[in-house]
Amino acid sequence: MIHMKHTTPVLSVVIPSYNEQGNVAAFYQQLTNELTKDKSLTYELIYVDDGSSDNTPEELQKLAKKDDRVRVITFSRNFGKEIATTAGVQYARGDATIIMDADGQHPADMIHVFLKKWRAGAQVVIGVRKKTQKEGFVSSTGSKLFYKIMNASADDVKLIPKSTDFRLIDKTAREEFNRFTERNRITRGLIDWVGYQKATVEFVANERMAGEATYGFMKKAKLGMNSFVSLSLAPLHLLIYAGLAITLLSIAAGIFIIIDDFILNQLNISGAFILGDFILFSVGLLLTSQGLIALYISHIHTEAQNRPLYIIDRSRSVGL
Ligand code: UDP
Ligand code: MG
Repeated sequence: MIHMKHTTPVLSVVIPSYNEQGNVAAFYQQLTNELTKDKSLTYELIYVDDGSSDNTPEELQKLAKKDDRVRVITFSRNFGKEIATTAGVQYARGDATIIMDADGQHPADMIHVFLKKWRAGAQVVIGVRKKTQKEGFVSSTGSKLFYKIMNASADDVKLIPKSTDFRLIDKTAREEFNRFTERNRITRGLIDWVGYQKATVEFVANERMAGEATYGFMKKAKLGMNSFVSLSLAPLHLLIYAGLAITLLSIAAGIFIIIDDFILNQLNISGAFILGDFILFSVGLLLTSQGLIALYISHIHTEAQNRPLYIIDRSRSVGL
């Protein structure tokens, strides 16, 4: 039994875990192997069980039983990775906090590099994926496109392409991060928004150890859309310009048709065609803009409900 409960650790490692029963023990072993190499380093491991339906919470409790540095937050149900990460960061006490996936995709030996950059003065250290062995065309083009659109339109944050949730934040950045109250959140976007002195660390992502990734294409697309709406008001501005441009254009076209048809009498394009095309165009634009507005309103709606971000099942949590 290792006792370090009453001192604040230098490092907090936050590990969101959803149905990771096959990875808990092995990843814990990897982590402790690396962390104990640095003899002067005190640390805590904050596991957040995101309402797993398998034996993840039991596996985590086993760890907590044999190692006092392990703390376990068990959610009452699945709240999603972004919220799980948020909870972990809120409970972290370290001078530095590192966020890592539970499936071994974020290599534990890189922690030393993160810490080195932090000790050299960086307040936020961002893990950037060098290459993934198995990234499909749709996923890689999708993410490229996302960063392009995002950076062209985001109001005040620039996202680093291939940047991941594998990150270190210092105490100051953590305390600022904890002031965010929004529900629809993307952790990396919020950390970028916080600012401070940044450094990057390149790493090659491992294959997931056991089990299946739960973030499929649809879940990723939804996350992308959500962070777009929460970080940028550009679509709303674009709508106004598009609306103005189309109105002006249709007035110009109207004037042209009047002159051509009624005064000069030389019209050779079918009027019905022009009209049909124009109506189609307008309807499309209206539908798109209505959809977008609905999206923004839905965000206002969920934020206005002001529900708690997550619910913790305290009877199955350890060390809170
Ligand atoms: N995760 C979570 N809640 C969820 C889904 C995933 O906490 O609802 C965790 C998961 O256990 C893992 C990390 O988030 O530690 C990344 O998930 P996954 O490996 O499924 O996705 P990837 O990003 O690798 O595609
Ligand atoms: Mg994974």
